[in-house]
Amino acid sequence: MKNKFKLLSVLGMVSIFLLIAFKPLGEKKVIVIDAGHGGKDFGATSGEVMEKEIVEKIANRIKALNKDENVEIVLLREEDNFLELKERVEKINALKPSLVISLHANITKNETVNGVEAFVSKENQFYDQSYKHAEGLINEVSNDNLAKRGVKDASLFLLKNSICPAVNLGVGFLSNPKEKEYLSSGKGQNEIAASVISYLKKI
Ligand SMILES: [Zn+2]
Repeated sequence: MKNKFKLLSVLGMVSIFLLIAFKPLGEKKVIVIDAGHGGKDFGATSGEVMEKEIVEKIANRIKALNKDENVEIVLLREEDNFLELKERVEKINALKPSLVISLHANITKNETVNGVEAFVSKENQFYDQSYKHAEGLINEVSNDNLAKRGVKDASLFLLKNSICPAVNLGVGFLSNPKEKEYLSSGKGQNEIAASVISYLKKI
C-alpha cells in the first residue's frame, strides 16, 4: 500500500514535470511596423512638421511599449532612412508576420477634415483579415483628439504585395490644426503607440 502510494506520487510528479516541460509555448506573433516614408521622402509636411518624423516616433514607441513576450515588434526603419517600397515588401515577406501596419499621417486641402482612417487592398490574399484589423485599429486609436473615420480599399503597392494581413493606418491629418498639434506632441505619439499595443494584445 505504501509503495503503491509512493509510486502514484512519483507518477504524479513526473506528469506535472512533463506538463510544465512540454507546455506548448504561446505562438509568438511577429508584427511588422512600417514607418512610412523616411530620408529624402518626407511624406506629408505642414510647416516644420513632417509625416516621416511623426510615424517614426510612433513606430519606435510601439516597439518600446511592447512588454508582451508573445509579440515581437519588428520595425522596418528605426531611423530616418529611405527605403524603397519594394525593399519594404521584401523585408515583410521574409519575416512572414501575422500583420503589417504601415503608419502614415494624412494631409488634405480642407483643414476641417480629420480622423483616423485605414486602407486595405482587395488584391491582398488576406483581405478579410486585413479589413478586420483595420477596423479594430481605427476603433482603438481614435480618441477625443482623433476622430474615427472608416476603412477604404486602395491598391497600394505595399498592401497588395505583402503576403500577410496588411493595413495602411493614417493616424490623423496634419492639415487639421488640432490633430497636427496632437500628432506632433509626445503625449499624442505615446497614446497612439499605446493604443496600437492594446489592439495587438487582443489578436
Ligand atoms: Zn504617408
